[in-house]
Amino acid sequence: MHEEICPVCGAENSFTVEERNDTRTVKGEEFAITVAISICGRCKEEFLPLSGDEGFEKAKDLYRAKHRMVAPEALKAWRESLGLTQAELALVMKWGTATVSRYENGKLAEPSHDQALSLAMNSADALLEMVNKAEGLADSTRNHLIERLRHKAGIETVEKAFLQDVVPAPHETIQIEKIANIVMAFCDGMGEFETKLNKLLFYADFKFFRDFGKTMTGLSYVRHHYGPVPSNYRLLYSLLEKRELITFEEEVFDKFVGYRATSVTAWDKNVFTEQELAVLLSTKNTFKKLSATKISELSHEERAWKETENGSVISYDFANFLKAV
Ligand SMILES: [Zn+2]
Repeated sequence: MHEEICPVCGAENSFTVEERNDTRTVKGEEFAITVAISICGRCKEEFLPLSGDEGFEKAKDLYRAKHRMVAPEALKAWRESLGLTQAELALVMKWGTATVSRYENGKLAEPSHDQALSLAMNSADALLEMVNKAEGLADSTRNHLIERLRHKAGIETVEKAFLQDVVPAPHETIQIEKIANIVMAFCDGMGEFETKLNKLLFYADFKFFRDFGKTMTGLSYVRHHYGPVPSNYRLLYSLLEKRELITFEEEVFDKFVGYRATSVTAWDKNVFTEQELAVLLSTKNTFKKLSATKISELSHEERAWKETENGSVISYDFANFLKAV
């Protein structure tokens, strides 16, 4: 509390602050929250903070999370990522100008507004259509936006195609951000040939599965003639290329033509747990000096490869028999 004089008894500087469990009701639903209360040391009178009832804001956050509604911070971050002002976004959404501002400041969105917003945020194609139909947008803003959204829609198309055909590890989901950062970590520096990259991913996931009972990426691996490869790996790498995280270049070595992947931006170790980071770095280190051919030979010594038919998914049961890691 900012004022120092108790409005009830006039005591000076005698307030203490306590967190209290309480409830607030949002649209007929009750939520448990905590709220900071100032208590006068002399008369014991309790006051809510002058800044307003923060308990109600917390309850609205809980309501939004429960109903999977767009959070105010997410709305603002998304709008800014598009380079739009509040008024411009209002034109795209066909809302009143003040509406965007109110939602960004924490007002609960009307259900139909929230739905339209979710769609616009999650589908570049849908947003593209809205931008095309928006009246009053400056041409330069519209054209710039259309260019960016076409690029984004292209990425979404590849991502959809990848997710449609990829085989996830049993009872797991595909972790695209982790896959992207593992690949970037492996390609850091000199880059890696695609054939080696496939095996590095295999070893990292199988080692992690052996040690912790689940994978890092959510991917399954398929037995190919030259060794294990991630399920649907060509589309996976196309996706990472489209997202401008890695680039592939054709390179000739000995008598082979291979594709070398190099990372375009720095990988982010914050997406990993400590255990994942340790396995990632130890895998990178173990195979650092081995050529694509050598690591391919090593993978052919694994029961995982030997006892799986060509073209079939390799069972994670083989993780217990890994030799090279
Ligand atoms: Zn008092």
